[in-house]
Amino acid sequence: MALNTNLTTGRPTFVTHLECSMTGERYEADMLHGLSRVGRPLLVRYDLEGVGAALSKEALTSRETDLWRWRELLPVRHTSDVVSLGEIETPLVPIPKSGGSPNVLVKDEGRLPTGSFKARGLVMAVSMAKALGVTKIAMPTNGNAGAALAAYASRVGIETIIFCPDDTPEINVREVAAQGGRVYRVNGLIDDCGAIVGKGAAEGRWFDFSTLKEPYRIEGKKTMGLELAAQFGWKLPDAIFYPTGGGTGLIGMWKAFDELEALGWIGPERPRMFAVQASGCAPIVRAFEAGEEHAERWEDAATVAAGIRVPRAVGDFLILRAVRASGGRAVAVGDPAILKAVEDCARRDGLLLCPEGGATLAAYREALRTGLVDEDERVVLFNCATGLKYPLPEAPQTLDRFAEIDLGAL
Ligand SMILES: *Cc1c(COP(=O)(O)O)cnc(C)c1O
Repeated sequence: MALNTNLTTGRPTFVTHLECSMTGERYEADMLHGLSRVGRPLLVRYDLEGVGAALSKEALTSRETDLWRWRELLPVRHTSDVVSLGEIETPLVPIPKSGGSPNVLVKDEGRLPTGSFKARGLVMAVSMAKALGVTKIAMPTNGNAGAALAAYASRVGIETIIFCPDDTPEINVREVAAQGGRVYRVNGLIDDCGAIVGKGAAEGRWFDFSTLKEPYRIEGKKTMGLELAAQFGWKLPDAIFYPTGGGTGLIGMWKAFDELEALGWIGPERPRMFAVQASGCAPIVRAFEAGEEHAERWEDAATVAAGIRVPRAVGDFLILRAVRASGGRAVAVGDPAILKAVEDCARRDGLLLCPEGGATLAAYREALRTGLVDEDERVVLFNCATGLKYPLPEAPQTLDRFAEIDLGAL
């Protein structure tokens, strides 16, 4: 049977080809690809007319709300290749007290499998790796991506070797190991880990799963944009604050909006995209402010928000283009503001953000203060992992049940 028919459902699938994000050069679908010939990410292209003919908004909204409801806009051809741990649609949670506006919502991605939105990207990339016969994968990670990779790959019997900076949060390293990944702490940053992965890949030892170095993670992360459109009744929010490391999610959402417009499901309006970085590692902000198309490596990167400690992004120009085209900005926030935002949101709104999510809240508050956004605008902040994976403040109080307890003083 033809590759472009789903063998389980008999329905057509719609990937036509892949395309270099820099030069537009065409690459064949259904083959294993890394970066394009000029060393830039490949984007998956679809027969969107075909998708439009096969799928109506009404049919879509009558489906279960999980990530796979978007299957016509996803690259996996055969249901049998789908490796799933239950990728739910994540909720939009208001945080009126710490956010300072009733119109700010947190998209809480911490509810996904493995506790982070890396599950969206990796469920897609691993499903495609399975479809294309990959048996061994290596990846550099700041933690959450490695955990998601290990979980999905172990589930389908693909071997994984994972390299992380030696100061990666302990829980991330352990969850990778617990989920069957072989994990190594490296005395360097994520791009130093990436160099090891690249060397092994060049020697043919494994397939390189670095951010954007295989084409399908973007397609998984794209579902954040698709979901937002559906959750907002096909009218996108006014602004999105996205914690930006490699930028996969921001690039993916931007692509999703274009595909939805091509389907006629949304209009040409776009949210202003705010790429949020930590001031201790802000290569995209620096390039944005300098008007550059590419971002130079950020030396001595340091921040509590490990997930966005990415000194160099291979998709830098795609992030910068999307941010500029949207009328948004790249903004940096300091670690004290990040930690304060995490604390406020937990104490006052009962929502425990991860530090990267705290960065988006800190950036939003700053943007409110400086007038970059208005209180009455509908804004989405991305919280990309559960706050439970990160160090929490001490709570050292004890009680001796044999002594007299002054209950009124508790
Ligand atoms: C990976 C990660 C990010 C950055 O995501 P990109 O799409 O790679 O920029 C942000 N927050 C958390 C918690 C992450 O794990």
